[in-house]
Amino acid sequence: MSDADTRRLDRLSPNKIEIIHNRQNKKCIYCNRPIDIKLQRGIHWNVEHVIPRAIFKWLENILPKKDNDKLFKLITSMDNLALVHYKCNIRKDSYIPSEKELKELKVSTNVINKYIDTLNKTNEYIQQYYDIKNRVYSKQKCKCFICKKRTTFKSAVIRRKDSNIPRIESNAMVICTQCNSELHISKYKKRVDKRFI
Ligand SMILES: [Zn+2]
Ligand SMILES: [Zn+2]
Repeated sequence: MSDADTRRLDRLSPNKIEIIHNRQNKKCIYCNRPIDIKLQRGIHWNVEHVIPRAIFKWLENILPKKDNDKLFKLITSMDNLALVHYKCNIRKDSYIPSEKELKELKVSTNVINKYIDTLNKTNEYIQQYYDIKNRVYSKQKCKCFICKKRTTFKSAVIRRKDSNIPRIESNAMVICTQCNSELHISKYKKRVDKRFI
């Protein structure tokens, strides 16, 4: 993602955040517990992309510009956003929900339909993303790159081996959810340390 795109994401206005907060009754769409947006974003809560940004990030260097722009618009649209707790955000990560799973979310049908609509509109890109993930997963013989334990395709998370190199297939690994949350915790600790210590 370019710097300009990252800035566009960070600039989500307080007004838009409030609209999202209200449409989900001020509760997290994953755990149904209240979210206080007065608490610090990025520590207590986060803006969640229900259809994950990972799809965009992994296809960014592959897709023609026209498709790239279309996908970016869909993923960052209000129709694909939610407010969730920081921990719920980490737990969900780049998991791609099915239509059935979206229907089980604790929000109004109106909001669920927006997510389902995004899922359908991004479907061809999701397939391309799964193709990359599948090749990496097969190459690793269905095992986590870090702990080497067997992991299911659906729950495995695709990550960069080297975060200084772009998201290209040769720099991709798939890891289990356990190893992924440990990676997140170490990153989270670093971020908290920087702010408070
Ligand atoms: Zn939550
Ligand atoms: Zn693992």
